[in-house]
Amino acid sequence: MNKHIAVIRGDGIGPEIVEQALAVLDKIAALYGHTFTYTSVDMGGCAIDKYGDPLPDHELEKCLASDSVLLGAVGGDKWNSFPGHLRPEKGLLRLRAGMGVYSNNRPAKIWRQLADASPLKASIVAQGIDFIIVRELIGGIYFGAHQTENGVATDVLQYSEAEIERIGRIGFETARKRRGKLCSVEKSNVLDSSRLWKTVMHRLAAEYPDVTLSDMLVDNCAMQIVKNPAQFDVIVTENMFGDILSDEASMITGSIGMIPSSSLGQSSCGLYEPIHGSAPDIAGKDIANPIGTILSAAMMLRYSFDLPKEADAIENAVSAVLDAGYRTADIMSQGMIQIGCKECGEQILRHLQ
Ligand code: NAD
Repeated sequence: MNKHIAVIRGDGIGPEIVEQALAVLDKIAALYGHTFTYTSVDMGGCAIDKYGDPLPDHELEKCLASDSVLLGAVGGDKWNSFPGHLRPEKGLLRLRAGMGVYSNNRPAKIWRQLADASPLKASIVAQGIDFIIVRELIGGIYFGAHQTENGVATDVLQYSEAEIERIGRIGFETARKRRGKLCSVEKSNVLDSSRLWKTVMHRLAAEYPDVTLSDMLVDNCAMQIVKNPAQFDVIVTENMFGDILSDEASMITGSIGMIPSSSLGQSSCGLYEPIHGSAPDIAGKDIANPIGTILSAAMMLRYSFDLPKEADAIENAVSAVLDAGYRTADIMSQGMIQIGCKECGEQILRHLQ
């Protein structure tokens, strides 16, 4: 199989972690007889420095012409004082909107080898943590009008039935392929947009009799994720709620550095990225955990390129490295062998079959 991948290294730890993921993709290509070619794309702070724009048209075009996009992370202190339109995150929002990727899927799964790394009580972890958050990605308050005038700031939160329906369907379809439980999270006791959300989800439920739909208010969900995460199979929610809940969910699995994500729309061309940011505090020190990015590459093979065996091979190699006791600093525990970002990538290559 020949695939063309747009690669956004970004800022901070982005280049270090992406390098490891590309080495893994190259080894998969060699082992399974595929050809992956890469085009480098500038986005984020590095693009602001180079072009005065976090994602110029010509760089977005490279992504749209690819079979999928692999992203490290963008942002950093250097650009924090820049005006809104000149922030690295604007590039990311533009990329997501430009690619039309409206569904962001983030697995929250605890690796058995890392049970100790979870901040939750062992008795809660023992019940199992294995759920997916399906987050609407290109609507809601992040994409509404933003304005500050005469000391009053306004951000508009708007959802149409069509936007809710298309993400709702992804939630039901995802639950159907798993344990058949879908929890729709909103704030319908306060927000009109949430009341519409709830109505649409219940209308869709009639088409998915094999999926059990439940509703939960977002504040309760934030509590339930730490109190009883085993109750969840698939959570579907709007953009901002999903942003916050998925960071919370990642933390209970041990480290933000372990979690991959996929963002998909109507076509198979997806955006794959770890859920963490550019971690400027550890950039350039060779201590970042590259596993979230490497597992994002595995998701790309599984969901965009339909290569499940190759994706399994990467996930098995990660598991084998953890079994062998190797840990980056963020998941280090007593008796384990601490390694850096580069060595973590090399160990995964060594365990790839
Ligand atoms: P962050 O995720 O970058 O870092 C939070 C903490 O987690 C830090 O202590 C960091 O060292 C640690 N961490 C993150 N990834 C790690 C990894 N792979 N291995 C080990 N430790 C890791 O979040 P932040 O500090 O709030 O944001 C830093 C910058 O990243 C900001 O400019 C922010 O806007 C940006 N950001 C970008 C994205 C993205 O590109 N998708 C997402 C979130 C934040």
